[in-house]
Amino acid sequence: MRTRYWYWIWKTFLGPSRLRKRFVRTFILVGSLPLILMGAVSVYLINLTHNIDVRALELNIASQGALKAERVVDQAISDIELRVTYEDLAPIKADQYDILLSGIMKDNLDFIDISLVCTTPDFCSSGHELRRWSKIGGSQVVNSNLRNFSTEKGFLSSAEGNKFISEPELREGKFYLSILSPIFNTRNQVIAVLYASLDLAKIEESFSELKLGETGYIYLVSQSGRILSHKDQKLINQDASNIAIISEILKNKSLNFSHNLYYAGISGNSVSGAGVYIKDLNWIAVAEWPALESQALIRTIFIQVTIFFLATLLIITIFASYVALKLIEPIAEIRQGTSIIGSGDFNYRVVVKTGDELEDLAINLNKMAEHLKGLEELRDLRLKTEYLSQSLAKEKELSKLKDQFITTVTHQFNTPLSVINWALDGLRDQDINREKINEISGIIAKSQKDIVAIVSDLVTLSEIGFKYRKENDKPLDIFELIKKVTDAFSNSLKIKNSKIILSKSVENSIATINEFTIRKVFENLIDNAIGYSDAGSEILVDVSGTESTLVIKVSDRGIGIPEQDKDLIFQQFYRARNAVAKKNVGTGLGLFISKSIVDGHGGRIWFESKENVGTTFFVQIPRGNQGGVANSGVVK
Ligand code: ADP
Repeated sequence: MRTRYWYWIWKTFLGPSRLRKRFVRTFILVGSLPLILMGAVSVYLINLTHNIDVRALELNIASQGALKAERVVDQAISDIELRVTYEDLAPIKADQYDILLSGIMKDNLDFIDISLVCTTPDFCSSGHELRRWSKIGGSQVVNSNLRNFSTEKGFLSSAEGNKFISEPELREGKFYLSILSPIFNTRNQVIAVLYASLDLAKIEESFSELKLGETGYIYLVSQSGRILSHKDQKLINQDASNIAIISEILKNKSLNFSHNLYYAGISGNSVSGAGVYIKDLNWIAVAEWPALESQALIRTIFIQVTIFFLATLLIITIFASYVALKLIEPIAEIRQGTSIIGSGDFNYRVVVKTGDELEDLAINLNKMAEHLKGLEELRDLRLKTEYLSQSLAKEKELSKLKDQFITTVTHQFNTPLSVINWALDGLRDQDINREKINEISGIIAKSQKDIVAIVSDLVTLSEIGFKYRKENDKPLDIFELIKKVTDAFSNSLKIKNSKIILSKSVENSIATINEFTIRKVFENLIDNAIGYSDAGSEILVDVSGTESTLVIKVSDRGIGIPEQDKDLIFQQFYRARNAVAKKNVGTGLGLFISKSIVDGHGGRIWFESKENVGTTFFVQIPRGNQGGVANSGVVK
């Protein structure tokens, strides 16, 4: 089961079918492209709307922060708004100071200290603190370190009946806001000034209700770009004027501003944010949200879309592979069919039942196989006919050869037999004397020798066949063999008064040969040399050679071979005209047999001849394996 599963995977994705791979690739491409597009577009749109939402939320929180800051300050102002119920210009009585100041401090816990300042020089020295309550270590106490505000802008303005809010001042790492408010009598005369210090960290505390995710925060920035309040105390008084939102708002003092991009916030993280300008206080409330959190949703969506895409891709791939496999099946069947039919099996039939063009293709392929089968039968027939006609030609050739053979043999036998017949007739003569008898028996003996020579040629031909193949070969001294052959011709030489001169220009004349057949070659060459020369002539036989071959030369000064016969001399039964005139009896088989023997030994036979001058036959025989006899000893 497991193996089948792996086989399926191999066949589908790695198997050799290029067409299937192309199908799968196309399916995946067609399937996944819209998927990628859809995914990308939806992630883009979600990101866009999410960013718009985030900006709106940030702006909303920043506005609420601004409102809260304003409210805290307004509350502080209203907490020190006081009007006495008498008409006198005389200040509040000293025994009332503590009740008044401690009461205000109890009402508004955001004040860090509160003072009553004299404005009526008739009763006290103007600008001097009359009483001061502070929050030291968390509890309210009377502070004896009284100050003089007589020259301060805030006091002077407030002494004239105005409310005054100072610039935030930094004390021991914290910003404080000084608020001054006049105390009026019933005649609207300022009888004293209340001076309160508000801890801006208190405003920061009020921001805690405003939620911007888990990590978003709000902070206040002064008109000089300094951070007034921040949940991170370390950042108080830091210069934030180069942050894009803040610089934009500072430039354009009535702007609510959202930044479209993520930027490095005051603490260095990538954030998005919005700022709101607080007109009355000249401050900016900034809401910032670290991208890590605000983008978490987008990241989750992106991951989910990616997982969805990959899962869909997997499904598409599996589906595409399956469909491609199904589509390929008939094509694979057709391909196999074409391959089998192409290799010559025209009985093979392709079975495809898809009911479409592929089935048509299979039907056409089968038709083609049928057609090819017919053609093949035709070709077989032609081959057979060709073979038959060749056989017939061979038969004809053989028959011609046979006729030639019979004619030659009949003719050859006829001549000596007629001579014998004629001689025998002569013997029947009544008046025949001894001398005549001797002459006639000599003629009969000569004819009988001719018949033996013809029979010998025929026997040799039948022994070695028309094509000789070397067998039973052994190392033999060819010079010695030739010597034996010439010895056998001593009688004929004597009769013709001719002689053979043997020479040897090589020390070692040993070659691996078949003795019986090579003997026939030299018998034939020497017989011809004697037969086709005049009486009293000399025949030269020489053995020479190299380390690998021996060359035997048989030369005579006889009738020679006419130019026109030279090409035909080695054909069976061929005899030149001058040869027939010279020697009536001959088969024309000797040279044919000799050539066949020499060829069979891997050697070569050829001649040089001139009519009426003489002929030299050359026989070249490879020495072959000489049974350990050294090849050296070439006589130079
Ligand atoms: P045959 O000698 O019986 O005719 P061969 O096959 O031995 O047959 O020779 C074929 C022919 O080659 C001869 O008939 C002759 O015409 C020619 N021939 C062979 N040897 C010689 C030679 N030494 N001188 C001249 N002609 C030759």
